[in-house]
Amino acid sequence: MFALNAVHGVNPDAKSRTVPECLSIRKIPYPYRAMLAICSDLDETPDRQAYFETAKFLNTCQMTAMGAGVGLEVGNSIYFDMPGPQFSYWNTDDHGRGMIADCIHSGHIDCLHSYGDRATQRSHVERALEALTRNNCRLEVWIDHATAPSNFGRDIMRGRGDLPSAEIYHSDLSCQWGIQFVWLGRVTSIIGQDSSWNLSGIWNPKEKISSTATGLKEAVKCLAGALGRSKYAMHKANELIQETTLRDGKAVVEFMRFNPNWKGVSWGATADEIAEVLRPAILDRLVRREGISILYTHLGKIGGSSKIFKAATIKAFKTLARYSRDQKILVAATQRILKYRRAAGDLKVSCASAGDRFLIRLDSRYPEDLDGITVYTGQPEKSDLFINGRAVRHFHRNPADPTGRKSISLPWKKLEYPV
Ligand SMILES: [Zn+2]
Repeated sequence: MFALNAVHGVNPDAKSRTVPECLSIRKIPYPYRAMLAICSDLDETPDRQAYFETAKFLNTCQMTAMGAGVGLEVGNSIYFDMPGPQFSYWNTDDHGRGMIADCIHSGHIDCLHSYGDRATQRSHVERALEALTRNNCRLEVWIDHATAPSNFGRDIMRGRGDLPSAEIYHSDLSCQWGIQFVWLGRVTSIIGQDSSWNLSGIWNPKEKISSTATGLKEAVKCLAGALGRSKYAMHKANELIQETTLRDGKAVVEFMRFNPNWKGVSWGATADEIAEVLRPAILDRLVRREGISILYTHLGKIGGSSKIFKAATIKAFKTLARYSRDQKILVAATQRILKYRRAAGDLKVSCASAGDRFLIRLDSRYPEDLDGITVYTGQPEKSDLFINGRAVRHFHRNPADPTGRKSISLPWKKLEYPV
């Protein structure tokens, strides 16, 4: 989080004038060229050990059952009322629930994956929220799960959680508690959202029929969206987020996930098969397209492996870690990317001068979500930054990026995994 402190010697109320080069927001936080969240639904995670050992491998460089961790930032999801022996909040023990609370506090559990298959009554939701609230836990991202009754999605996920007449109605409670972003079942094959509609990268010359069918399906979704079908509106625009309302009128932000597997969006979305997606050809394309994407996957589906991740999966995450270290892809938890994207889209930027200083002003409804925001400016060393009228002391002054433009940016700090 950036610090707000007084900057001396400049007047934030100085008269505004147009300085065009100051008004451009860099799409991706400097110096990265793309953003990616590995957004895992926890379905079929066998136990506490698999759940947390996976998190440790992904988020730290410590030794784990899979060898040294890869030091990325990868969140996870949680649910409550599930049949055993699958891992869930109620199916684990007090120690496991304590670890869940720690990871929610640190941001490493950042998504609520419905209240579970067996949550059929509003009382199930009240019990779950009471437990989370008692532990000072809050989640802002909702992800529909399979055919869970508490789902919100009306067209794909068949949910009833936002129908006031339903026994499982809970969107009033969940939104009041903290939910702001929702995933309602939409997945695209397109690599890189918030970029042009483009099917390249799906084609697999060794699997001509399957990959052609996948490309055609995506094209049909886009066409349906263009013809006005709301189910595919996000596919048409290829945008990561859109404002929407639940059936009880609650305003939320819906997001779309992607899975560029050539066989289709339902394929390869598991730990065992993620290597088909996290490969250089796809990651390079994400970088080239300067995409912001949230990957649809299930890292708890490990095929009964005692080592949790098999060798190809470990190698895939090492590959992704290299793209992160090389500052090509900013890999971050789902919630952080969603909040960044919402804040960046909402931002108002203006510029004024005071003597030989440039005063860059950001006006935002989400001032807490501006980590990583990068503003191009011709003279970073002479720029001062204000957010909602308050001066910011701690920000970076960056050299020119590959576009030849210099910038200033707010720090982006990796989440610290609780150990
Ligand atoms: Zn699920």
